[in-house]
Amino acid sequence: MKKKIVSMMLCVAMAATMMVGCGSKKEEAAPAQTETEAPAEQAAGGTLVMGTNAEFPPYEYLEGDKVVGIDAEMAAAVAEKLGMELKIEDMAFDAIIPALTSGKVDMGVAGMTVTEDRLLSVNFSDTYATARQVIIVTEDSEIAGVADLTGKTIGVQQGTTGDLYASEEDATIERFAKGMEAVMSLSQGKIDAVVIDSEPAKVFVSEVEGIKILDETYADEEYAIAIAKEDTELLEKVNAALAELEADGTLKAIVDKYISAE
Ligand code: GLN
Repeated sequence: MKKKIVSMMLCVAMAATMMVGCGSKKEEAAPAQTETEAPAEQAAGGTLVMGTNAEFPPYEYLEGDKVVGIDAEMAAAVAEKLGMELKIEDMAFDAIIPALTSGKVDMGVAGMTVTEDRLLSVNFSDTYATARQVIIVTEDSEIAGVADLTGKTIGVQQGTTGDLYASEEDATIERFAKGMEAVMSLSQGKIDAVVIDSEPAKVFVSEVEGIKILDETYADEEYAIAIAKEDTELLEKVNAALAELEADGTLKAIVDKYISAE
C-alpha cells in the first residue's frame, strides 16, 4: 500500500511537470527508427549526454559555470572508458527522467536513488554509493527525531525521495526547486525541518549557521545511474565501466576528493 501511494505521488509529481505517462508504455514523438539506431550511435563513440541537477554538493554543483563533483567526475571517467565525450546538461531534478525517456539525455547522474517507481520508467546501473535521507532542524528545535515531524512543516527538494517520504508524514510539505532554498527557509524560521540526502545536508549545514542534522536516519538509499529502458547496450557498457573504475580504485579516489572520511 505504501509503495502504491509513493508510486502515485511520483506519477503526479512527474505529470505535473512534464506530462509523462507513468507505468504505462507511452510512445515518444521521435521517429520509430530512433529506438533501434540510438544504441548503435552510442557504440560508435561520439557524445555521451548526462542530465543532472547541479544543486547537490558534493555530487554535482556549479563552480563558475562548470558542473563539478563526484557524479561529474565519475561520468567523465565512464565516458572515457566508452571512448566518448561527456556533455553535461543541468536541469531541474524532476526533469531528468523525462529527459531520459524522451531521448534528450543518455544518462541521468544526479545522486539519483534507485526506487521501484523510477524503475517503471528507466533502468538503473549497478549502484555506486549508499546514501541516507536525514532531517535538518534549527539548533534550538524541539524536533529530535522522525516521530516529532507530525504536524510540522517540512521542506524538501521537489521530486526527490525526500519529497516522496516526507509526503507520507502527517505534516505540511513545502517543495523547493533547490535543496539550499529549503535550508535557507529553515534558517529563517519559515519551516520546521528539511528532509534531504545526507551528503548535501552536511555541506549545507556547514555553510548555514544555527542548523544541525539529527542523528536518526530517515531512510537508507542507494545511488545509481539512470538510463532509458530501450538503451540496454549503454546500460551494459556503463556497468562494465563502473566495475572497472571500482576495481582500479578510480571511484574511491573521486569520492575521497570530495568527501573527507569521518
Ligand atoms: N537522492 C535523491 C533522489 O534521488 C535526491 C537527488 C537529488 O536531489 N539530486 O530523489
